[in-house]
Amino acid sequence: MQPFIVILGAAESGIGAALLAIKQGADVFVSEKGEIKDKYKQVLIENNVPYEENNHSEEKILKATEVIKSPGISAKVPLIQTIKSKGIPIISEIEYGARYTNSPIIAITGTNGKSTTTSITHHILTKAGLDAAMVGNIGYSFARQVAERDAAYYVMEISSFQLEDCYDFHPHIAMLLNITENHLDRYNYKIEGYAAAKFRIAQTLAQKDYFIYGADSFYLTYMLSQHNISAKKLPFSLERKILEGAYANNEKLFINNNQNTTTMNLNQLSLRGKHNVYNSMAAGLAATSIGLKEGVIRESMSDFHSLEHRLEEAGYKKGIVYINDSKATNVNSVWYALESMEQPVVWIAGGVDKGNDYSKITDLVREKVKAIVCLGKDNRKIHEAFSKSVDLIVNTESMEDAIAAAQHFANEGDAVLLSPACASFDLFENYEERGQKFKQVVNSLPE
Ligand code: ADP
Repeated sequence: MQPFIVILGAAESGIGAALLAIKQGADVFVSEKGEIKDKYKQVLIENNVPYEENNHSEEKILKATEVIKSPGISAKVPLIQTIKSKGIPIISEIEYGARYTNSPIIAITGTNGKSTTTSITHHILTKAGLDAAMVGNIGYSFARQVAERDAAYYVMEISSFQLEDCYDFHPHIAMLLNITENHLDRYNYKIEGYAAAKFRIAQTLAQKDYFIYGADSFYLTYMLSQHNISAKKLPFSLERKILEGAYANNEKLFINNNQNTTTMNLNQLSLRGKHNVYNSMAAGLAATSIGLKEGVIRESMSDFHSLEHRLEEAGYKKGIVYINDSKATNVNSVWYALESMEQPVVWIAGGVDKGNDYSKITDLVREKVKAIVCLGKDNRKIHEAFSKSVDLIVNTESMEDAIAAAQHFANEGDAVLLSPACASFDLFENYEERGQKFKQVVNSLPE
């Protein structure tokens, strides 16, 4: 009998899983609790995939041989509990996709820097002439890529939510960039649960594999001491010299792996900020792990273009630089954004708070920020956290008003930084829309 695969959630990962399952000859049923976006519905129809929306038909779902769950659905949801209680395996789209490819996978996780590091790594591999597909939370889903064209290498961004449902998924190079508080709402407000999900990236690593990790991340190294990882460990650090791994001092970056050394001046890196030195070191280590050499690594790290919405320069107006860091949806990202600023900052922040602890950035804010423009419906926490360290704090509820206020506070030579520390759902569809709106309003300002 052929397997009956039920896919819960019909967004990028669900659609990818459906296409792959159809290709494998399985019976497939896609179930989405909300409305399915037109672009995805079209794919389902074109490929004759049975589906439902605005509903989960429990009886049918419970007939599944296996359930592929969207990372957006929490394990606490009653339907998931019921499926589990019936003994039906629940897996992620990544777990499923990995069954149908033998190509090496570089899997990248961490609280921050995943997309940037994934993109730099992919850039290096592509520049070296390798057939590498960039998949996962960035762009195409992994399963969809496997279904449509199996690439020679996969560079994959993977979240803790995807990792929660991974068991046999086996990356050849696993990267854990850092662990700080984030999404704690999904983990009963305990960092241990979140960190444990992240460490699942290393659970299947074998001796010939590589584990690349951020050695300066406290929770990460603490958890590492409790895990037995047999892969070759390659740490990266800005705090200490590392013989096998990567480190940087004030001027130079060193990547040492398998008697292969890459050295580079920090000012040759195309991306600004300390966090991007970390991201570049991690990407460089992955490249050396598959045997790439200094020349292409160095060249790729110096001509890589910053991703949209990540410390992206949106324009100069009347001598003020406007920086779009809309992707910074947690406090740690804001720390790195502020840390990288050399000029006085008017900081636009706020939105939906995911349990932020602002005490971690109070000192940096006091040092660098001259005014805060809150952009959100409920800004109480920001006022409480910073009213003692910043004199000027105002509330706004639209991007136009936020930028008008920022313009008012900023002088020539200052920076206006949108780095919200919060999700965007109170006023915008998502962080991309928030960033687009920022750029649009900045663009419309007089020169
Ligand atoms: P992710 O995909 O993990 O969300 P991104 O690469 O999209 O990470 O970057 C998201 C935000 O985090 C950006 O605003 C950036 O300024 C910040 N950031 C990027 N890399 C790091 C890092 N290594 N450590 C801390 N913050 C980072």
